[in-house]
Amino acid sequence: MNTIAKDIVQMTIPTPFLVGPINTYLIRGETLTLIDTGPKSEEALHCLRDKLKELGLNTTDIEVVVLTHHHPDHIGLVEEFYPQAKLYAHEKVSPWLKREQVFLENTQAFYKELYSRHGVPKEIRNKIEESTQGYLSYYPDRELDDFLKEGDQLNFLSGWSVLETPGHAQSHISLYRESDGVLIAGDHLIQHISSNAIIEAPYGKGEERPKTLLQYRESLKKCLHINTAFSGHGDVITNPTELIRKRLAEQDKKAYQFKQMIGSEEISCFDLCMKKYSHIYEKQPSLTFSETLGHLDLLEDYGEIEQVEVDGKIFYKSI
Ligand SMILES: [Zn+2]
Repeated sequence: MNTIAKDIVQMTIPTPFLVGPINTYLIRGETLTLIDTGPKSEEALHCLRDKLKELGLNTTDIEVVVLTHHHPDHIGLVEEFYPQAKLYAHEKVSPWLKREQVFLENTQAFYKELYSRHGVPKEIRNKIEESTQGYLSYYPDRELDDFLKEGDQLNFLSGWSVLETPGHAQSHISLYRESDGVLIAGDHLIQHISSNAIIEAPYGKGEERPKTLLQYRESLKKCLHINTAFSGHGDVITNPTELIRKRLAEQDKKAYQFKQMIGSEEISCFDLCMKKYSHIYEKQPSLTFSETLGHLDLLEDYGEIEQVEVDGKIFYKSI
């Protein structure tokens, strides 16, 4: 536990996920507000309780919980704060928390079609499906009390406002305090690893797939002016502007590496993914696929490559 600003305490909680421990933040403003909760596990719950106890607090003292995005390492313990604490997040967190049947079915159907059109073989598709179902078991059962959106001034924490920062997750928001340029960044910005711009299904009926890496880059550029970022994983980011410029440059570099790999071929996203991530794509198929498709979207946006459709399958070629 770590007091990182005069009224902000960072509490690091273990997770069973590959990403490692998560940072939650307690803001001691006019309300006692917890940003993110940690995953739904006994170990995480004990750890969070212990850390609050060291501050002379119980879970029942927390008055507001804000979630930065819908991933299970961030939201898993929300039931612990029911009913005394209000729960706020972007509205796109809601269908995950409520496990909305139609939404989950549409999402599943979207991935099935996407993976099939981009050349992912059936056994890998099944593996991804299994791990997604596994993740769903980490979702808690609770509804949001209200939604937060771009530009909202928090009436329970004066001086703080909401920045929508989609890209890593469609539901992602960050909290910004203008007086000292502090951003509670969730997984939008992490010092030691680049955030994956995870491919997600559209949330509205008939909408196109969001191009998550392009979105992510816009959300990064929105944060170039901040002074300090408190991240969902790892260290405090003391020079976020530099880190953001580095991330943007790395993405450009990676996109052109993909372009080189495409060469004069017509190649599917999945074949390109296997070529680039030959050692890890089997272990992490959905993350490596997202990474590949995101950079293909970027190259398309730059006018460097185009799609060709053959028998319902999508291939990419250089222009
Ligand atoms: Zn996340």
